[in-house]
Formats: sequence, structure tokens, C-alpha cells
Amino acid sequence: MAINWFESWLKNKWVHHSLKLALAITITVILSPLNLDLFEYTAYDWRVQLSPRPDTSGNIALVSIDYDTLKKLARVPEALDWAVVLQKIGQAKPKEIVSFLNPTLIQGSYDDLSMLSEVAGRLPFHFGENDLPKTGMQHLDPLAPPFENIQVEPMPKTSDKNWLAKDGVTRRLILSYEGQLTFHPKLAAEFTEMKSADNYHGAYSLLDSQQMYIRFRNKGAYPTVKFIDLLEGKFDPALFKGKIVLIGKDTLEGGNDYVTTPIVKGLMGFTTLEMHANVIDTLIQDNAPRWSPPWVKWLFTFAIALLTIYIVLSVRPGKGLLMLGLSVLSFLAIALLTFIAARWVIPVAHPLVAVFICYYFVIPYRLIIENRKSWEYYQKNRLLTQVEELKSNFMRMMSHDLKTPLARIQGMAEVIREGSMLTDRQKVALDTIAESSEELTEFVASILSLSRIESKEMKLHLRSRDMNRLLNEVIRKAEFSAKRKNIEIVAELEPLFSIKMDEDLIKTVLTNLLENAIKYSDEGTKILVSSEEVNNEVVVQVADQGRGIAAEEMGHVFERFYRARNSRKDTAGNGLGLYLARYFVELHNGGIEVESELNRGSTFTVKLPMNLDLETDQSETSGGMYV
Ligand code: ADP
Repeated sequence: MAINWFESWLKNKWVHHSLKLALAITITVILSPLNLDLFEYTAYDWRVQLSPRPDTSGNIALVSIDYDTLKKLARVPEALDWAVVLQKIGQAKPKEIVSFLNPTLIQGSYDDLSMLSEVAGRLPFHFGENDLPKTGMQHLDPLAPPFENIQVEPMPKTSDKNWLAKDGVTRRLILSYEGQLTFHPKLAAEFTEMKSADNYHGAYSLLDSQQMYIRFRNKGAYPTVKFIDLLEGKFDPALFKGKIVLIGKDTLEGGNDYVTTPIVKGLMGFTTLEMHANVIDTLIQDNAPRWSPPWVKWLFTFAIALLTIYIVLSVRPGKGLLMLGLSVLSFLAIALLTFIAARWVIPVAHPLVAVFICYYFVIPYRLIIENRKSWEYYQKNRLLTQVEELKSNFMRMMSHDLKTPLARIQGMAEVIREGSMLTDRQKVALDTIAESSEELTEFVASILSLSRIESKEMKLHLRSRDMNRLLNEVIRKAEFSAKRKNIEIVAELEPLFSIKMDEDLIKTVLTNLLENAIKYSDEGTKILVSSEEVNNEVVVQVADQGRGIAAEEMGHVFERFYRARNSRKDTAGNGLGLYLARYFVELHNGGIEVESELNRGSTFTVKLPMNLDLETDQSETSGGMYV
């Protein structure tokens, strides 16, 4: 009882929808504490790789100490080399010069070093410190003499080695630390009005810092001059005019000289120089990618979880999988397009994991339901088959048992009619008895045929017969009832060769057609019965001028028990005649069709093949009783 109540409660449409909704919410909540950073950042990189790269701002030039320089100098550049190079850059009037090389590593006599310090001191020159000082921005130690007057600036690179993705890929930059701007935004401010870290698009706070994501240009996007070419004076000074010049290494000496980025993940990804150039350019152009607020993530997670639950529970498995695949692809496409068009980063990890969890969570439930349903169908089907069998047996028994008493009634009525002097009223009564029992006999015959068809007991007994002879016989029998309605039957029969047929079945077909034509025609009309041979087929037509059949019903009249609307009320019938006719004709590999127009008449056409070649029981001698 309680289980029944629970089951019907479950079947309620609204309960069903609410349960799905609740499941989607639950899965969203369960997913919320899950750390999927690694997956998320892989998907982020994938978007960066698929997006077109932005142009550089054109405000940055690079000077690289590369293998060519080391080879041609046959050593690492020393203090005097540096002094010459700085002087040449200075003459080209850049806005800023930043070197990422540790000045304490530059070799040379004290005098040479002092000279370098003096040259550098006259220029807008800074040393950039690649890592944040341990104790905060204010605590960068001054350089040892003779470099004590040269400013050291914190230019931290932010790799995601320790935070978030833990995969060592540089994606973010630090804008400010403990409230102080790093040198990147200060350099960028030379070209923009931006003075505060908060004003940048996509800036967010993390621990003691303001950070944002770097918009990377392609590798090799910045104009680069080799240190040796500068030293030898082989460069175009216009390249540095009014720009930020970054000097650094491009050799494999120190691991710190390279970073991996979302674009290049190999060991020698971007040089640190290029990375800093991209950082400063992102700030100058203020075009950093920005993460959408958290509610967007949860909204997508919930929506996609709900969609998955609906698809898994309501759509056929194959189609469902396709729909699910398309939904996931559309979601990824939206994430990519919003990134390309607006640089918005929609988190995809949680929504995608929601799809998998929902799928694997709900599929077993669906299987259970389907198993139960198919078991129920099986039970119902068994019951239906049993009922159908019972019905057929009953019909057959009934028909058999009715035939004998009916024949007796007909016989007795005949005896009375012949034997005695009857009044006119009694004669009419006897006619009615005869007609009614005739109708009943026909009905019983139809029912018997139907039960034979349904139990697949029907067999053909083929013999060569002349169709015209059969037609004449059928017409003769029908003439009596035609005359009563003053209907004229006109026969136009072309000479035909005999064809193989089951005489009784075809006679039943033709009788049904002709009786229908009479039954559904008005008094004083004509019926044309014709036969001819066309394309190796015998074609018989019964055309009347009766009430006709509505176009939309024409397709139904050959169905079991179907009666057209315009004949249900005023004419007796059971809707079996045409069904049996079609069945019998098709057993002969033939066809039956109707053309009709309401209130103008109907034409039924039967086509039977001339050379019937069937493998059924085709005995020439044995006759068959069907009706
Ligand atoms: P029924 O016992 O009702 O005549 P049939 O299977 O012989 O059953 O015919 C099915 C239906 O097709 C009929 O009820 C009638 O509506 C329609 N029909 C059949 N023959 C004709 C006809 N010659 N003219 C108009 N309607 C017809």
C-alpha cells in the first residue's frame, strides 16, 4: 500500500521535475569544494592557443645576450662592453632601459665598473630583480659600490609553480605587492594614464598582492637586437627611440632565463625578456583576460547538470549521447568565443565534470526504470496474446455453432413457404426471416475467415478458372437485390484466358464489391462491371454512381471493422468485407484499389496476375471451404 502510494507519487509530473532539479542542485553543491585547477588551467591554455594573438603596442624593444654574442666575444660581456652598449642605447633616446642581468656578476676592474656605473647613472637605467624580495617591496638591498646609485626594481615574474595549476606555466603577473606597485605598471604608466593596480581590467587580489593574467603575443613578436650587434654598432637607433628597452639573456645557461607559457610549453618556451615585454604590453594595452565572477561558473554547472539529467532520462540512448555531445561542444564553443570576443574566461572544469557525474549517476537509474518497463510490457503482451487467443477460439466456436442452427432456420423457412397457403403478411415475414438469416450467414462466414486469417491458417487452393464466368455468376446472384433498388448492372467483359485462382476467395471478393456497390447506391442508378487484360494482369472493375467515399477516409476503408462516416447510420454492415477482399487479393499477389468522389460514385479495381507462381498448397483437385 505504502509502496503503491510512493510509486504513484513518484510518477507525478511535478514531483519528477522537482526531483531532477534537486539532483542537479545537489550535484552542483557536491562539486563546489572540488579543486579542479589543473583541469581548469589546461582548458584556459587551450583557449589562449586557439585565440588570435594580439599585436604588440610597439613600445618595447629587446636586447639579447645570445650564443652569437658569446661566440663572437669569446667570453661573457664585461664591464667595458656594457658601458659601450649602454652608451649606444642611450644615444638612441629610449624612455627606459632595464637590465635583468645581476650587475654583481659583471666582470671588470674597479675602474671599468665605475665607468659603467657612471654611464648607467646618466641614463634612465634600472636593474630589474626577477624575484620578489623576501621581506616586502621596500626591502630591496642597495647594490654594492660602485653601483650604489643604480636603482634596483622589483620585477617579479609569476609562474604558477606554487599556486593554482602547479604546472610551472606562467600565466599571471603581480601588479602590486603589499600595496606597492611593481615596476611593470610603473613602466606601463609612461604610456598610459593608469596609476593604480585596481584600474586594470581583470585585476584581482590574492594574498598580499593584486594580480592579473598576461595576454601573450606570439614568440618572437618583439624587435630584438643582439648585444654583439650593438657593440659593433650594427643596429638602427630608431628601434629604441622613445621605447622601453629590456636587456637580458637568451642562452641556456640559467633555467631562470626561460618560462613556459600557455602558448609555448617546451623547455625553452619564452625568454624571460619576452615574458616581461608581454607583461608590460598587456598593461599598456590594458587587455588582460578576465575571469567571470564565480556565479557564472555555478550557473553553468547547474544548467549543464540539469540538461544532462533530462537528456539521460528522457531521450533515446543513441540520440541522447549525440545531444549531450553537441551540448558539451556548444558550451566549449561559447567559452572559446567569449574568450576571443571579450577576453572573458568562463570556467569549464566544473560544468564538464558535472556532465560526467550526472551521466554516470543517472544512467543506472534509467536502466532500472527501463528494465521495469520492459518487464511490464512483457507481462501485458503475454496477457494480450492470451486474450487474443481466447477471442479467436471463441469466435471460431461461435461461428461454427451458429452455422448449423442458421441453416436449419433457412431450411424450415423454405419448407413453410412451399407447403401451405400463406397470407401476404406471413409471406413478408418469411422473406424477412430468409433475408436476415442470409445476412447472419454471411456475417458468420466473414468472422470465420477473419479468425482463420488471424490464426494464419489461410491456405490457397489454386485452380485455373475463367474470371468472366465467375463474374457472371456473381452478377446473377446480385441481380435480385439490385432489382429491388431498381439498379441496373451492366457487364462489359472482354474475353480472357483462364487464370489460376482460389475460386471461393475471389468469388467472395467480387460478391463483396458488387453488394457494396448496390448497398451504397441510390435507386435507379447503374453499376458497371468490367474485365480486361492489361500488362499481364486481369483487371476487374466495379464502378457505381453511389454516395462515394470522402477523400480522407479512402485510405481506411480496407481496414478491419472500418465503416465510412456517411454509411455508419443508415446501412447495415460490419466493416469486414473490404478488409477480407484486400487480404484475399493480396494472397494471390494481386492488388485492390479504390477511386471515389463524394456523391458521384466509387470504382473498385482488382488486379490479379495472369501467371501466378506460388509455393502454397496449389492442388488442382482439392476444393476448399472458407465461408
Ligand atoms: P461494410 O460491411 O460496412 O460494407 P466493407 O468492409 O465492405 O464493410 O466496407 C467498408 C466501408 O467502406 C463501408 O462501411 C462503406 O462506408 C465504405 N464503402 C465500401 N464500398 C463502398 C461503395 N461502393 N460506395 C461507398 N462506400 C463504400
